[in-house]
Amino acid sequence: MTYVAFSSSLRVLMLASALALPGSVAVAAAPQAPAVGARALQPASPDRARLPLARLFTPLRLEGAILKWGAPQVGTPARVTYAFASGPVNRPEARNCRQMQDFDTLADASGEAPAAVRAEAVAAFRMWGEASGLVFEEAASEEAANILLGAQAMPRGYAFTNVDFARQDGSGLIEAGGSDGRGLSLPVASETGEGKTAPVAAWVASITRSAICLNPRHDWKIGFDGNLAAYDLRYTFAHEIGHAIGLDHHLQGPSIMHFKYSEIFQGLQAADISGVQWLYGPPAR
Ligand SMILES: [Zn+2]
Repeated sequence: MTYVAFSSSLRVLMLASALALPGSVAVAAAPQAPAVGARALQPASPDRARLPLARLFTPLRLEGAILKWGAPQVGTPARVTYAFASGPVNRPEARNCRQMQDFDTLADASGEAPAAVRAEAVAAFRMWGEASGLVFEEAASEEAANILLGAQAMPRGYAFTNVDFARQDGSGLIEAGGSDGRGLSLPVASETGEGKTAPVAAWVASITRSAICLNPRHDWKIGFDGNLAAYDLRYTFAHEIGHAIGLDHHLQGPSIMHFKYSEIFQGLQAADISGVQWLYGPPAR
């Protein structure tokens, strides 16, 4: 099962169970209470924007906005900090990862040392950083961290990500495309496989905070062994980090952002790299 649930401010994302069948994908969009000024966020033609997007990669969209860290402009780099929860974290306003506990609790579920589990998360951040203009650094404190990782305090599912972004108060958003002709160009796969672009109307909003939480009661492991009931930690972290940096589930072709856990590949795929580079540009080095 996969849940992609909307609220007026937050979105819940869940790495699907390995047993999920392709036909069982549930995309439930709860009625959205219009936020203040939400009308200004609506792209001119959301449907037209969505279709070409589904080809190469799938950006996370909330209230019509494409989300990224840093400047609300696609293709611009960003510096993002992360931290591991060392104790209880309560974020009652969050849709998911509302209550977290010590990240190192996850070590018990994997039989690995806490340092080894943290190292898997760091390696997953590195994957995305090496592929894009994103630079990840450990935060000075948990409170200051852009992305906080923890274990679920009320265990359910496998893994979740919560994404918060700047509201549409007129400051954090820019308009791209639409009738002004500035044109936000989204890469689209052509029939020959060559990229071409199509302008769409969209807004870009800055992510302000994110949380990633894993269920400490599940079996986790380091490395692949063919047992799809126990998820590889690095793969799972990479998937959830993908959400935390602005990517949604991508179902067209191989992608670490596919909702279904597999052990076919361990690293980012072309779709993932296209997506992260579209949001943050290529690596500076
Ligand atoms: Zn997911």
